[in-house]
Amino acid sequence: MTTSHTGTTSVSIPTQTTYQARVADYWNAEENPVNLELGQIDDLYHHHYGIGEADRSVLEEQDPDLRRERVTGELHRLEHAQAEYLASHLGGLTPDDRVFDAGCGRGGGSVVAHLRYGCHSDGVTISAKQAGFANEQAVKRGIDAKVRYHHRNMLDTGLASGAYAASWNNESTMYVELDLLFAEHARLLRRGGRYVTITGCYNDSYGQASREVSLINAHYICDIHPRSAYFRAMARNRLVPVHVEDLTAATIPYWELRREAEHLVTGIEDTFLDAYRNGSFQYLLIAADRV
Ligand code: SAH
Repeated sequence: MTTSHTGTTSVSIPTQTTYQARVADYWNAEENPVNLELGQIDDLYHHHYGIGEADRSVLEEQDPDLRRERVTGELHRLEHAQAEYLASHLGGLTPDDRVFDAGCGRGGGSVVAHLRYGCHSDGVTISAKQAGFANEQAVKRGIDAKVRYHHRNMLDTGLASGAYAASWNNESTMYVELDLLFAEHARLLRRGGRYVTITGCYNDSYGQASREVSLINAHYICDIHPRSAYFRAMARNRLVPVHVEDLTAATIPYWELRREAEHLVTGIEDTFLDAYRNGSFQYLLIAADRV
């Protein structure tokens, strides 16, 4: 809406775009068993994929209830290993340090960082429901004085400039424009602070986004960036990569197990496996210093 008063033009800017409202709707409504049943095991809710060798013997369990339980437990172990791996790249944090969890989901990543370092954490999600859920979990755990979740846009958080020793995006960069995202991380991080992302990206050396990458985009209402876009946007926003790791091979066992978990599949499993195997898609960790 544009209104004009005495020759000047004031433009009403919505707090979030229509696209962001659709993403919020998706996460407000999301109740996939793969996101809830795994978290219920130990109240650590991860909405990302797993890494590491999978114990496929869980599939041989003959008792159907026990099989279900063991498969769920194994997938959760792999997802938790991914969160710990990300947290291990955040640098030497102390209990006085503050970290920023961008696109925090139901909150597992901030809890992992807090348990590891004793640090303060601010998690931000565009889903009001997720922020409420994550705050309830923090209260339940008795860590709500240090771990807080906010219903905000990670591109425009309103959090304090230079107040953060580390920040990350765990599988949430594909919902936003990277230049806007990294500008906000650079603003929030103190000089020498550490930024980490684990993300799916499309592989420039394959070419443009493959059919599988497009299917993943449609499934999650997201827009997977090419690998090159990360480095360009970081260079423009005072973020200098210090460690880059291709986790594609490490995530395949998780997907191979998940596709056999009848009670947890969401229907996107084979597409992920095809995308990784045909070389069009990569699972990447990038750690960068804020200079
Ligand atoms: N990092 C979490 C959740 C990943 S799922 C985990 O590892 O478990 C993607 C998350 O990105 C969702 O929580 C979604 O609400 C969030 N998100 C997407 N766009 C966002 C935006 N513009 N601002 C804040 N959060 C956003």
